[in-house]
Amino acid sequence: MGITLVTMPWHPIDLPSLQLGLLHALVSRTRPQDEVREVHGSLRWAEFLLERSGGRLRPGDYVRVGSDSIFHGLGDWVFSGALYDDPDWGTARLRDYAVRHGIDVDVACEMRTYAAEFIADCADAVLADEPDVVGFTTTFMQNVSSLALARELKARRPRLTVVFGGSNCDGPMGHALHRNHRFVDHVVRGEGEYAFPALLRHLDDGTPPADVPGLCWWEGEVSRANPESRRTVAPADIPSPDYDDWQTALDASPVAEYVHPKLVVEGARGCWWGEKHHCTFCGLNGSAMAFRAKPGERLWSEVDRLVRRHRILDVVTVDNIIDMAYFKDFLPRAAASGWDLRMHYEVKSNLTPDQLALLADSGTVHIQPGIESLGSRVLDLMDKGVTGARNIRTLRECENHSLTCSWNLLYGFPGESADDYTAVIDQLPALVHLQPPSGAHRIQLERFSPHFNDPGLGFGKRGPAEMYQHVYDLPEDELTDLVYLFDTEDAGIGGEVEARLKQAVERWLSDHSGSRLTFTEDGDSLLVHDQRAGRPQRTHRFTGWQAAALRRLEDGRIGQALYRLLVEDGHRLTVEDLDEWLRHALELGLLFRDGRTYVALPTWGVPVRLDEPGYASQMLYHRRGPDFVIVMDRRDKGVSARYTLDDPDLLATFDTLQEPTPLAELSDRQLQAAKLLADEGLALLADGRAVALPPRLRSWPVPCTGI
Ligand code: SF4
Repeated sequence: MGITLVTMPWHPIDLPSLQLGLLHALVSRTRPQDEVREVHGSLRWAEFLLERSGGRLRPGDYVRVGSDSIFHGLGDWVFSGALYDDPDWGTARLRDYAVRHGIDVDVACEMRTYAAEFIADCADAVLADEPDVVGFTTTFMQNVSSLALARELKARRPRLTVVFGGSNCDGPMGHALHRNHRFVDHVVRGEGEYAFPALLRHLDDGTPPADVPGLCWWEGEVSRANPESRRTVAPADIPSPDYDDWQTALDASPVAEYVHPKLVVEGARGCWWGEKHHCTFCGLNGSAMAFRAKPGERLWSEVDRLVRRHRILDVVTVDNIIDMAYFKDFLPRAAASGWDLRMHYEVKSNLTPDQLALLADSGTVHIQPGIESLGSRVLDLMDKGVTGARNIRTLRECENHSLTCSWNLLYGFPGESADDYTAVIDQLPALVHLQPPSGAHRIQLERFSPHFNDPGLGFGKRGPAEMYQHVYDLPEDELTDLVYLFDTEDAGIGGEVEARLKQAVERWLSDHSGSRLTFTEDGDSLLVHDQRAGRPQRTHRFTGWQAAALRRLEDGRIGQALYRLLVEDGHRLTVEDLDEWLRHALELGLLFRDGRTYVALPTWGVPVRLDEPGYASQMLYHRRGPDFVIVMDRRDKGVSARYTLDDPDLLATFDTLQEPTPLAELSDRQLQAAKLLADEGLALLADGRAVALPPRLRSWPVPCTGI
């Protein structure tokens, strides 16, 4: 059987598709007689735009439409004209939507003029290999481009079997996708590791797949949806992804020069927190919340294999939450490797400073700690299992360990009130030295979330999000089953408090880059240097119990507990002394108060920030992998050259030339290698000596935008 696996726009062009990699490995292992191919439609689309627009529509435009506009559905709209065979379909509605929402749609409109031709071109590419089965994976805005291609394929070759799977197919969404698109033969709902091979066996035998759990299939003109199974895929049955085809496609692509490629790995599925306390707004894990993780040793061996094979040191983990066992059996292995990895991890925000330090040592540069709010009552309402004070501590420790931290400040929870926000808003100016949220956003209703599943939690009135009106030509009741995001009546705060919150966060975003609040020690004194925007620049000196109190408050404590500790430590003070000092420290913005808990705000270090004037260490640098070195050269403006040094002679010479070395001490082979490096501008040969030019870069500026 010939099986072609397809990932369509708007899959990120710097990442391989984990789903394709897993299915490719799975089919190759379980059905060695089959021929498996991959079509990277996302990469092809970026190439197509670049070429047809004469270089005007670049990968940056792809990201703007494909990732940044996810809540406006622009990427799906680009392909809806091709799906509905009408270049003007949905355009008037989009224009109207864009005016009301103040968004720019010019780039998406230009892209749309190429969409139908691209779909035809993709169909040529898929059919050239004469596959029997074409499998699409669809997540976020991949639905419409995938449907447009599936329709074209079936029109040209009706006997072809078209299968859809991926997060967009979970639960009712998969059945709606199937029954509304007759050209989609099968939809795999839920995880594919057991269902896809079972479907292929039925296709071999020509039998109806009535026993494949969760599968949607056609019985004549009737769309059948098999009951979904509660059985989740065991970690031992999750294959290690095969990215060879992606690498080949990327290497041959003109888009490669715009892209910083990364590996995608999966350690765990589901969420161990959500199993017990499902955060009320979160629909992330669809129908499979049960937490399962590969042993850390196995995850590391996958990372090791992929890094060596692809010569890539940037690693994105897709786990929705880190397995806490990885602090013992995965991260220490990464830290011990000595490689200059850059990893991304989603974590829970109540990690200890030691755990954050280990993350940093392991090569993790970017975390998503799911902070969501700085007020404990709102965090309680969302069942987040963390306090505002703890979240502040995490933000502070990210500065201490040079970790880029992405987070959103969410509001609009049923039951919240202005009182839950005013104290936080008043304190936001004191936080400007910590990494700000991406913005203050009203929560949106997501399918699979507790808010969605239980209308009694406050969002009784709901309907498919407005953006789907310019994406799908389907009636409201079908959209209700098909889509992931819903519009509701606003809950929680609004009016003046909402406006104050948004303004304070905007201020934080604009004031952050030049702001610092740092500790240093001077003998027995603790100095706090305040260089935050909006305050007089000054240094505070604390001694005795006051210095000890500040240190004790790095962990966050209530006043009584702090008093007890200070007295136990032998300090002499009264409760009144402490209360007075806490008030004073709060006024100075050196503490954050969350209910009765105080947490100290100064940091012990300030990471290099990306927007620091004169900061240029990313112009030319090298990173070390197991048996290779990557050199990035961005010295020529607008040009990014990437070299992989893995030839043993070249590598050994590069190592030797880390120190200036007399040419006379180099062997003939080393001299030849030194000249090669010099020809590429990576070494300098002068005055009878040679030296390598790119310094080793091990720590990254914050924010680390490359990951
Ligand atoms: S928000 Fe994060 S921690 Fe909460 S249920 Fe979702 S994945 Fe789990």
